Amino acid sequence: MATKVTVVRRPELTFWEKTYLPQIFCGLKITFRHFFHNLFLHIAHRFGQLTHLRASATIQYPEELRPLMSRFRSRHRLTVREDGTPRCVGCMLCETVCPAKCITIVPGEHPDPHVEKYPIRFDIDLGVCVYCGYCVEVCPEDAIRMDTGILDVAAYSREAMQLDIHELMDPKLHKPISDCSLKFPHQCQVTGEAMKGSWEGVDGAGAQPTP
Ligand code: SF4
Ligand code: SF4
Repeated sequence: MATKVTVVRRPELTFWEKTYLPQIFCGLKITFRHFFHNLFLHIAHRFGQLTHLRASATIQYPEELRPLMSRFRSRHRLTVREDGTPRCVGCMLCETVCPAKCITIVPGEHPDPHVEKYPIRFDIDLGVCVYCGYCVEVCPEDAIRMDTGILDVAAYSREAMQLDIHELMDPKLHKPISDCSLKFPHQCQVTGEAMKGSWEGVDGAGAQPTP
């Protein structure tokens, strides 16, 4: 059966549309409308009038940071216990639920028999993350949160967008990190100048925590 093809012709631009002047004036009209509307409201607020109407204000970001709502989802962090060890028990629920598949966890046996596992490796690729917050919602240990207030996660490379356990446990850390200072039996392979080290050959079964 022959497929029916409908040709939709793009309408020809008129003379005035080709000059782009109407569009420019339309844009200016909107800009000036907002400008005078806000100017009027700010002046009225100065005299204590129309305070029930909100006027827009320019935030001088990044020098001036806007207050965030408590439920705002910002960059992730891994929470820690009082002894500095991660609350994460390597249950893999967050990795499983993540719709973007941007969490990578390698769990290891914990020397404390009351704690089944701990994350040897815990990576989140922020270049892929969609900030849905499912990982926070699903965690049974309150081990991962998105409350750092860090919004500027821009980087010059895709690799720099990949947070590993060091940056997740201490949001103040940034690459490059040459020494691991994590206080738990962590099989860290970060040595010298490399931040991420090599995780090849490390898996949950074969991992042996440092005593
Ligand atoms: S916020 Fe969503 S996409 Fe990002 S790591 Fe968590 S579950 Fe994955
Ligand atoms: S962060 Fe929470 S959900 Fe994810 S592996 Fe650790 S304990 Fe499980």
